Amino acid sequence: MLEQGEFANFKESYPQPRVTQDALPYWEAVRNKKLLFQRCPACSGAIFPPRSICPMCDAGAKPAWEQSKGAGSIYSFSVVHRPPSAIWKSHAPYTIGLVRLDEDYFLFAEIEGKPEDMAVDKRVQVNFPDREVPLPTFRLV
Ligand SMILES: [Zn+2]
Repeated sequence: MLEQGEFANFKESYPQPRVTQDALPYWEAVRNKKLLFQRCPACSGAIFPPRSICPMCDAGAKPAWEQSKGAGSIYSFSVVHRPPSAIWKSHAPYTIGLVRLDEDYFLFAEIEGKPEDMAVDKRVQVNFPDREVPLPTFRLV
C-alpha cells in the first residue's frame, strides 16, 4: 500500500475489463447476466475470446453470437493465497481456473466454493455475482 510520495492519493480499485470492439456484445450480455460466445458458421467451431474472424478455418466467415448454457467442468485451477493486489486480500483464499464449457470453449474465471472442494472435472455453472465489476464466475454444482 502506498502512503507517501507522488502516489499519496492513489486509491486502489478493482481492475476493469478492457473491452474491445469485438468483445462489446459479450460484456453487454454479462451486464444482463448472460454468457455469450461465438460460433463459426463455416466450421461450427466455438470461439472464445470474441474475434472478428474464425481462428480455426480459412473460410473468413463472420462468427455468430450464441448464448451459452454456462455449464461446464473444471479443466485446471489454482488457489490464490497471496493475491497480486491488496484489494483482493480480504477475498483470499480464492480459486481461479480454466473452465471448459459444454459448448467446447474455455473461460478463465474465479470458481466460487471452498478451495478443498475443487477438483479437475468437477461440474460448474456460471454465476453473475453482484460486485463492483461485473465478471462471470463459476460455482460448483
Ligand atoms: Zn471456422
